[in-house]
Amino acid sequence: MAYFNEPMETMGRAGLNALIEDRIQYTVRYAEENSPFYSQWFRENGIDVASIRTHEDLARLPIISGQTIRESQPPVTENFRFRSVGWPDVFTIHETSGTSGTPKSFFLTYQDWQRYAEKYARFFVAQGFGMGDRLIVCASYGMNVGANTMTLAAHRMGMTIVPFGKCSFPLRTIKGYKPTGILGSVFKLLRLARRMKAEGMEPRDSGVKRLVSGGESFAKESREYVEEIWGCKVFNTYGSTEGTMCGECAEQNGLHVPEDMVHLDVYDPTLMKFVPDGECGRMVLTTLLPVGGKCGTLLINYDTEDTTVVMSREKCACGRTHMRIFYPQRESETVWVAGNPFNRVDVESGVFQRDNMEYLTGEYEAFIDRSGGSTIMKLNLECFDPDRPGRRPVEERFTEAFLKYKPGLARAFEEDKFRLSFDFLPPGKLEFYAKKGRPKRLVDRR
Ligand SMILES: [Zn+2]
Repeated sequence: MAYFNEPMETMGRAGLNALIEDRIQYTVRYAEENSPFYSQWFRENGIDVASIRTHEDLARLPIISGQTIRESQPPVTENFRFRSVGWPDVFTIHETSGTSGTPKSFFLTYQDWQRYAEKYARFFVAQGFGMGDRLIVCASYGMNVGANTMTLAAHRMGMTIVPFGKCSFPLRTIKGYKPTGILGSVFKLLRLARRMKAEGMEPRDSGVKRLVSGGESFAKESREYVEEIWGCKVFNTYGSTEGTMCGECAEQNGLHVPEDMVHLDVYDPTLMKFVPDGECGRMVLTTLLPVGGKCGTLLINYDTEDTTVVMSREKCACGRTHMRIFYPQRESETVWVAGNPFNRVDVESGVFQRDNMEYLTGEYEAFIDRSGGSTIMKLNLECFDPDRPGRRPVEERFTEAFLKYKPGLARAFEEDKFRLSFDFLPPGKLEFYAKKGRPKRLVDRR
């Protein structure tokens, strides 16, 4: 199977644009009729929804953030003002914790589940999965809609899912079920490989043909290292409860956006305008409903707080015509030092320099702090054996790789306004192990 939905995935640009316009018009009408938030907004701003016809017209509508959603639901308002369907059509309710207190509520219809599943099915097929494959899912189930809708995707593809929900499953299952794929974060996949090696199992000989890493951006270097350890490709998939799924194809050259179901724009919040292709900004997404479709939580111009760049709208070597974007990075994982931004992924690429990996496990955490008149980044690096000599070259390789493409930061480093310090810790001693939830690997303590 080369495509999951060939007519849609390979549609020419003109046909795709016409389809997108039809869906924008239907979606905006649906919002006016079914979403308390939007019907009020259109009324108060004197917007005639019939005038919203094209992609450009969407730019006249407000940008919605997680904060807007939280302010439009109990306890702030009496009702959930983004819920855009009657209760009989609400199939599931999800909550996303995010970083700041009150969870955001999301209502999904069964149609939403089907559409999410189709997005994942398209990416799985684009990555080479198909009938008869067996995939262990290490992403958590429960409130996380990704793992659930991936499981539904597998049903539509004739693929088997082992829904462990975490990577600490017993290794006998690898021998018994002979999975052909595993889905988990880069770090979970590395931990699993270490556990297998300790038991005398070689990941490269396990029968696993491809790995999928979702939910978190990763550095090119860490992907290459996981690919080396497992002897197969690692594919990147992005997605969230808001329905923003984008996925890599076998070319591993950016993420395809399923343009018939999700409309993507890139926005610069400081300039308060949308930016052209090739420029970096916040990823802003709009759910596109097929004419006649229903949606539990309709979001138009939703600011994901992740940054990206539109790489290309040209046909990809895989045959798909849907646009490709650069791997999104979390804005909350970006820090500024001496006027220069860098992301958790930049730190990760320094850690995962290939020669470092003879010494390090790959697990790390970094803290930014003040130190006299300068800023210091304190790195805790987990290593197999801290007593083994060889720290100095690790520090040098990190520093060179980290500063290589950041001239402003390199200057601050030379002038001693930005400093690096390294601590090498034995396995299990990093600070985040003692905390609950997703590890925070780049912490700004200023
Ligand atoms: Zn492609």
